[in-house]
Amino acid sequence: MTTDRILPSREAEDLLDLTRAIGDRHLATHVNRHERDETYPEGVFKVLADAGLLGLPYSEEFGGGGQPYEVYLQVLEELAARWAAVAVATSVHTLACFPLDRYGTAEQRERWLPQMLDGRLIGGYSLSEPHAGSDAAALTCQAVKFTNGYTISGTKSWITHGGRADFYALFARTGVGPQGISCFLAPGSHDRLAFGPPEQKMGLHAIPTTTAYWDGAELEAERLIGAEGQGLGIARRALPQRPSADT
Ligand SMILES: Cc1cc2nc3c(=O)[nH]c(=O)nc-3n(C[C@H](O)[C@H](O)[C@H](O)COP(=O)(O)OP(=O)(O)OC[C@H]3O[C@@H](n4cnc5c(N)ncnc54)[C@H](O)[C@@H]3O)c2cc1C
Repeated sequence: MTTDRILPSREAEDLLDLTRAIGDRHLATHVNRHERDETYPEGVFKVLADAGLLGLPYSEEFGGGGQPYEVYLQVLEELAARWAAVAVATSVHTLACFPLDRYGTAEQRERWLPQMLDGRLIGGYSLSEPHAGSDAAALTCQAVKFTNGYTISGTKSWITHGGRADFYALFARTGVGPQGISCFLAPGSHDRLAFGPPEQKMGLHAIPTTTAYWDGAELEAERLIGAEGQGLGIARRALPQRPSADT
């Protein structure tokens, strides 16, 4: 079925053509095997990164695509039409870039953002916990401050790309109540971080969704994104994923 698209520019039309071509060649041809066998699509995100599809709604200053949100969403639709799991992971990666892009300091952005937006680093978003889904303010994962950083302890659940991502936008508790949640740019691996087996899902088999177990992992202070206590606001603003919005 073809879709009539309303796009704002010739550049956006070309981008959609490119996405369809890449999707037909690199996604549609492999989707059935990976979804059936529940195997990770090695190399697919490199293809999307090389095409510039992993930072589309972010500013070009740090390597984003500088595209309006409506164009980014239409690219996601074209990816999803060919491989839903890859589109979801692309969406979550893009979402995971939001806290640093919007709330990071200049130094933090310069250090990490270019590699995130050009897809060299793939991101996950770690807000949910076993007993904190819709009610994210109920999360209990702890981030205890020490001289040079924070010690992370707790269980996070339902992480798209869990165990595979290079970094996580991680939300953990530095105080009490809704104002006691902070956001961290956590590394994808750490000797005090372990992941559970992939959840048994009804679909989206090729990309794992897992639990993460943080057991006293020390993160450097520079990995706090925004101010202490700002995390829940960051998490909620990230979910609509509108980097160009003012809120
Ligand atoms: C495939 C998959 C991938 C996911 N990936 C991620 C990820 O990458 N990162 C991450 O952090 N999380 C992820 N999640 C978790 C997802 O964000 C949560 O499932 C979601 O927040 C809902 O939480 P819950 O499942 O605990 O449901 P609940 O919060 O228990 O909600 C269950 C039902 O109750 C309804 N409900 C809840 N509260 C109210 C209320 N106050 N009034 C009326 N109705 C209510 C909800 O709408 C829902 O229908 C993923 C989940 C899935 C299934």
